[in-house]
Amino acid sequence: MTPREALRDAARRFAFSPTARLDAELLLAHALNITRERLLLTLDDHPVPDGFAALAARRAAHEPVAYITGTRAFWTIDLHVGPGVLVPRADSETLLDAAVDHFKGTQGPRRILDLGTGPGTLLLAALDQWPDAHGEGVDASDTALGYARRNAEALGLAARARLARGDWADGITATYDLILTNPPYVEAGAALPEEVAAYEPAAALFAGADGLDDYHRIARQLPPLLAPGGVACVEIGADQGRSAAALFLDRGLSVSIRRDLGDRDRCLVVT
Ligand code: GLN
Repeated sequence: MTPREALRDAARRFAFSPTARLDAELLLAHALNITRERLLLTLDDHPVPDGFAALAARRAAHEPVAYITGTRAFWTIDLHVGPGVLVPRADSETLLDAAVDHFKGTQGPRRILDLGTGPGTLLLAALDQWPDAHGEGVDASDTALGYARRNAEALGLAARARLARGDWADGITATYDLILTNPPYVEAGAALPEEVAAYEPAAALFAGADGLDDYHRIARQLPPLLAPGGVACVEIGADQGRSAAALFLDRGLSVSIRRDLGDRDRCLVVT
């Protein structure tokens, strides 16, 4: 089989995936130990490596591509990920877009807090965005913190990133210019794609009967943590704009809603 045929064949087997062709390209590039960009520029120059069939079989069984390759691109950085940690999603870049807009024309945030940082996703992306900022990432999962620490080191951001185990903002008394959070927000029992339901950690996804459990906690904790002029960017599910916003409005905060690239409500911008 030529590389072109291998990609076409694999993409057909990945028909369940909305990104079937991309998935195939990422796996072939991984098997060749080159970037996807290089693969596409030199596609006819490579043999199909022996290892590709095994990687494609894992994807055909719905394993997330990021768990197979061990890495996921997010914002301006690449993050190590694996079982036990939520795979960064492009939707979450909406929070960084909102933060960039909020701080436009200023020196940017100096102190950043990421609640539920997972593999360091939002914190490390923000520290990469603002080279003078310091930040803290909190997560309840030691597995996630292990990935976050490894990512902070690999990206040269460890000196500016403090990573700690925590239950949302319990015990945190400092104030922050930028607070980022992608908490669990899926309704208990909701049907998720098999690659999410069967592989990704339930604790990072589900948040009670209405998916709002963790927003209640975060909305209660947030007001004293926000520095004057600061902003909190809170990821939400597409149908949670009103219900999640109400919890923050009840605490005397101002809220606007930002949409993702698919034009769905995705982020509460809280000041
Ligand atoms: N957007 C994710 C999904 O539906 C959910 C992430 C989350 O709960 N924070 O797969």
